[in-house]
Amino acid sequence: MGSADEFIKLRCVSKEYATASALRGIDMVVEKGQWVSVVGPSGSGKSTLLNIMSGLDNPTSGQVVIDSTDITAMKEDEMARFRREKIGFVFQQSHLIPYLNAVENVMLAQYFHSIADEREAADSLERVGMGHRIDHKPSQLSGGEQQRICIARALINSPQILLADEPTGNLDRENTRKILELLNRLYSERQFTIILVTHDPFVAQWGRRTITMEDGKIIRDEYR
Ligand code: ADP
Repeated sequence: MGSADEFIKLRCVSKEYATASALRGIDMVVEKGQWVSVVGPSGSGKSTLLNIMSGLDNPTSGQVVIDSTDITAMKEDEMARFRREKIGFVFQQSHLIPYLNAVENVMLAQYFHSIADEREAADSLERVGMGHRIDHKPSQLSGGEQQRICIARALINSPQILLADEPTGNLDRENTRKILELLNRLYSERQFTIILVTHDPFVAQWGRRTITMEDGKIIRDEYR
């Protein structure tokens, strides 16, 4: 479909609230397969940026194009379908359903996408090192284990884009490192595009590109 060089493109994206300007004219292009870290102080607009890229939120003005599709022009049901097919999410809070076990939580994501397949869901848990925990409920799992299940759930439908908002925000350093090693391994195997919001420099350094935000603007865009 669209150009791999301009896989995700934001043109002059602004988001105004009555009390704050969350984004002020963001221009940004992400190549297909890039791992981009977005950093910046609290309130700088990082989560708003992620929500707008996923169509969960609309900009006040500007345009968001993903794989040649202008998502700002989409109707809500079209957007929901687009999101299901293209985007996986991992948040700081696991958002796992408490009364479903690990494999059922992953199957729920399959169900919303296409057909639930227990074997495939169990395989995806195996790939994130959770094959021995498929019958466990979220409350029986550690924070790091819950995030592994979230990663399995986010990637079960093979999305082209993974959006992560402070995915290790509730974890200690050792578990943070393990989750990033896992993400890195899956990323090298499948080459999806990652946009990862974090305030933690240790987490940011896993991406090859770091975008720094301040007061609703991009103030730095660096490659390593
Ligand atoms: P970050 O993720 O970097 O902490 P956010 O994107 O959450 O920043 O917020 C950016 C700015 O927009 C902040 O000033 C915040 O208070 C404001 N903001 C975010 N969401 C809302 C909302 N729903 N209503 C009003 N202001 C909001």
